[in-house]
Amino acid sequence: MNNKVIIIRYAELYLKGKNRKFFENLLMDNIKKSLRGIDCKITFGRSRYEISDYSEEKELLSRLQKIFGIHSISVAQKCDADINAICETVKQYSIETQTFKVNTNRADKMYPMTSVEVSAEAGGAILSANPKLKVDVHDPQTVINIDIREDGCAYIFKDKILCAGGMPVGSAGKGLLLLSGGLDSPVAGYMMAKRGLKLNAIHFHSYPYTSEKAKQKVIDLAEILSEYAGPITLTCIPFTKIQEEIHKCCTSNYMITIVRRFMMRIAERVAMLDECGCLINGESLGQVASQTLQSITVTNDIVKSMPIFRPCIGMDKQEIIELALKIKTYNTSILPYEDCCTVFLPDSPVTKPTLKRAEYEERKIANIDSLIAEAIYNREIIHIEKI
Ligand code: ATP
Ligand code: MG
Repeated sequence: MNNKVIIIRYAELYLKGKNRKFFENLLMDNIKKSLRGIDCKITFGRSRYEISDYSEEKELLSRLQKIFGIHSISVAQKCDADINAICETVKQYSIETQTFKVNTNRADKMYPMTSVEVSAEAGGAILSANPKLKVDVHDPQTVINIDIREDGCAYIFKDKILCAGGMPVGSAGKGLLLLSGGLDSPVAGYMMAKRGLKLNAIHFHSYPYTSEKAKQKVIDLAEILSEYAGPITLTCIPFTKIQEEIHKCCTSNYMITIVRRFMMRIAERVAMLDECGCLINGESLGQVASQTLQSITVTNDIVKSMPIFRPCIGMDKQEIIELALKIKTYNTSILPYEDCCTVFLPDSPVTKPTLKRAEYEERKIANIDSLIAEAIYNREIIHIEKI
């Protein structure tokens, strides 16, 4: 027996005690869904998943690196745990560096040789096949790992590829992401999916003030996010009439504050309709006028029935940009299509709004409830699934 497999190690799941089985099964489901369309066999045993009988290695590795809950993966040669088979297998490794070391881990404590003996024997086999190589146990340029398992198999691999980490999507419930076309909200969605939240998304658009392209940009962003978070249900809310009403009735420097409060009202209701347990947005403290402590207090006040998660709250723009680049939302986010928040933008929005004044401004709008009901009634629902 001698074949190539991918070993998948999971991340924090061991924390979960009795729930461990639930997490392991959920991660297995997520792996299967994410690898749909690729021919391979997936098995699970002793806290690891294994992929065998595959050919599309590059695509497999790329998809596995996006699955939350996976800590690391390795491409390994699997052989009998017999020392001769191990030596034959390690000899085939091409080692391009000058120095190496063999590291053996023996899960099978009944194995007739110690780890040190296996490493020495395998190291000797490598040296005889590559006489120019040198062993360096302290600072080797290449490490060959040998993992001897209880089932009579050995796994031999060079690298551990670190993956996305976090918790399997769905293990923490479902959240509704307020997704604009900007840089911050996709990053916020990514961060919460990493903690195990399945995502729904809501987007407010102000057609014809904002274009079809602006909406398409949000669909594209949701599609990129779905590579990590799985299928996303995106609710698009027509927001023009509400913005026109606010513009007509309210003092202009409170425009953004009131707009935000309407978004929160609608988002909370859509979250309830879609059985989401929290809202998620991309706010970062102090980034713009609508994200000062006072502004956040006034918009936060609307939502009473669930928490609002703001994972970017303590991040600098530069840190958000780096994450956007890493998750590949950056290039789409920076496309220059206007967002609904730029419609009727006042010259000088308040940076320190008060709740009392916001409520006073809103009393000038006669029909808040029906405006909201109408916007939700006219929502468009788009199911987004990449792969
Ligand atoms: P982003 O880069 O995410 O657009 P931003 O820095 O532009 O954020 P704001 O425009 O003040 O900040 O928006 C703050 C948050 O409000 C956004 O991160 C997003 O979660 C939500 N939001 C803003 N506009 C919309 C919209 N049109 N649809 C849905 N959510 C929105
Ligand atoms: Mg924005």
